This record gives sequence, C-alpha cells and structure tokens, in this order.
Amino acid sequence: MTCPRCRHVRVLDAMPLWWHFQRRGWDDTLSSVRQRLHCAACLSRDGCVLRPHLAVGRDPPTGEQLPYPDTATWKRLVSRYRS
Ligand SMILES: [Zn+2]
Repeated sequence: MTCPRCRHVRVLDAMPLWWHFQRRGWDDTLSSVRQRLHCAACLSRDGCVLRPHLAVGRDPPTGEQLPYPDTATWKRLVSRYRS
C-alpha cells in the first residue's frame, strides 16, 4: 500500500488482512479493502484520511501486522475454502 500524498509505504501480509475482513463479515475484494484502509502517517500528522494505493507484491511485510488466526481456526478455514 502506498499513500498518494506522503508516499508512506506499508506492506501487509495478505493472510491476516483477509482474516481481519472475514471476522467482520466485510467484503474482501480489493476495491472495498481500500475503503477500509488509511495512511497512518497522514492521519497522525494532520488527521487526513488518505486511501492508499494497493498493490499485490512479494515484498516482506513491514511494521505491525494484523493478528493471525490461531492454527486450529486457520486449518478449518483452509479446508472449508479448498472444498
Ligand atoms: Zn500518507
């Protein structure tokens, strides 16, 4: 994710991000994911909520990550989505 204003780059691991949306029953398509995200740097500096540009890449995640599901939950989810 890249902020269009301050160029702050944040790489989130897709798995906990997806899980975060699943738990809340949110739509997990990329365009709606974007509407739920904001640039933390701009928000803390002057309260502006900036929607970041999303790009799916293979960069290692940076900063604090969202919580991962526990192993038992994850296995259940994987088997449900594979079948
Ligand atoms: Zn920003």
